[in-house]
This record gives sequence, structure tokens and C-alpha cells, in this order.
Amino acid sequence: MAVLVDQFLCRTDNYGYLVHDVETRKTVAIDAPDAGAVKAALNHRGWTLTDILITHHHRDHVEGVSVLKSEFKLTVTGPRLEAEKIMGLDVMVAPGDMVMVGSTAFFVVATPGHTLGHIAYHNAGDRHLFSGDALFSLGCGRMFEGKPGPMWEGLKQLRSLPDPTLLYCGHEYTEENARFALSVDPRNAALNIRAAEVKRMRAEGKFTIPVSLGMEKATNPFLRSDKPELAKAMGLPPDTDPSLVFAALRGAKDDFR
Ligand code: ZN
Ligand code: FE
Repeated sequence: MAVLVDQFLCRTDNYGYLVHDVETRKTVAIDAPDAGAVKAALNHRGWTLTDILITHHHRDHVEGVSVLKSEFKLTVTGPRLEAEKIMGLDVMVAPGDMVMVGSTAFFVVATPGHTLGHIAYHNAGDRHLFSGDALFSLGCGRMFEGKPGPMWEGLKQLRSLPDPTLLYCGHEYTEENARFALSVDPRNAALNIRAAEVKRMRAEGKFTIPVSLGMEKATNPFLRSDKPELAKAMGLPPDTDPSLVFAALRGAKDDFR
């Protein structure tokens, strides 16, 4: 039960991830944003691609599937609810399912909202969470298809995972997200420290991902929708249903400049 993770930026701000199961030498790509970038990473490591796990149907997460499928003997797994929107799916999964890649297990978590069938993959053994565009560091995905209630429930599911879990998300949006987070939660000490660190890291060209889920629980305003200070920041009473606070935060972020 040991994996190596290779992480690379591609397209504009997408993260590509390869997870290599050391024991069985199987290698899974989390989403397929860019076939060329995935192949370069494989070559660099000397790994052979055996699997792709898809989080959702957006083009910047699936565009590389067809080329990679033509060049490797691999299995493409993705959300059953979006099967008709994702070309080349071999295995359809639903929340609660487990996907085995070699000796590594990935649990499928429902994270609807950015897209209706969006799923995240949790490797509990290695404490890795691949959240696609459902959860970002200091932010969350834009709510294109879903409703705030189910999206908040999905984020709560992710929040229930252990603090040391490393969050690997679909984009490097952290610095932008920090600006909004500070605007709604300005007195959060952990957030102020993280935002300053993020700013320095980006100035040095470093990745802000992965980040621990414990850090996100303390700093990400969307994971803190049930805290009275976030309700207050949205002009809502402290006992407001958290899903409504979440909806207000998501709306405010959409309009934030
Ligand atoms: Zn997306
Ligand atoms: Fe995306």
C-alpha cells in the first residue's frame, strides 16, 4: 500500500496527477486534461499508464482520454451519471463504489454541484483525496449544474475525512481564492497565515497543492459555511441553515472581482 504521486501543471492552470502503485507498477491518471503533458510525465518517470479515473465531464478533464486510449492498453473509469457525456468510458462508478488500481483502493465520493455527477476519489490507505473541481484549496468549484443543498452535503463528506489527508484538486486557483476568502473571513488567523504563504509560494513559482484537509477545514470559507462568522459575513442570522450560507458564499464568489 504505497504509491508515488507525480503532479504537473498543464493547459493553463489544470493539475495533472499520476498515481503509481509501487507494488504492481500500475499507474493511474486522475483526469486527462492534456494527453501530451500526461505522456511527458509518464516518460519522465518511466511509468506505463494503465488507468484513468475521471471526476467529471468538463473538457479540461477529459480531452486527453481518446489519445491516451489509442496509445495505452488502459481502463477508463468515471461517473455513471455522466456516462453519456464522457467518450471512452469503460467502467462506470457510483458514489460508495471502490475502484482498485493494483493494490490501491480509491473510494468514490458524491460531490455534485459543479456538475451533477461529479465524483471525488479518496485513497484512504495513502490519505490522498482527488477532488477534481468540487473542492479547491480555499475555494470550491463554480456551481454550474447542481443545487446548493447537495453541493454542501458533498463538501461535508469531504470535510469528514481525516485532517492529514492531502488534497489534490483540479486547478491551481489558490491565490485567487485566497483574496475572496480573506474578504469574507478576514479575522481568521490560520487563513491569514496560509494566504501569505500562498502568495510567497506563487511568487516563487511553487505549487500550493497538495494541502492538508486539516488546513482546508480551518481556512476554506466554503467548508466553514456552518460557522456563525461566515453567516454574519453574508448578512445572515447565525442560525441560518448552512446550505443557505454556502449558497450565499458561492454567489458572492461568482460576483467577486
Ligand atoms: Zn470543471
Ligand atoms: Fe476544470
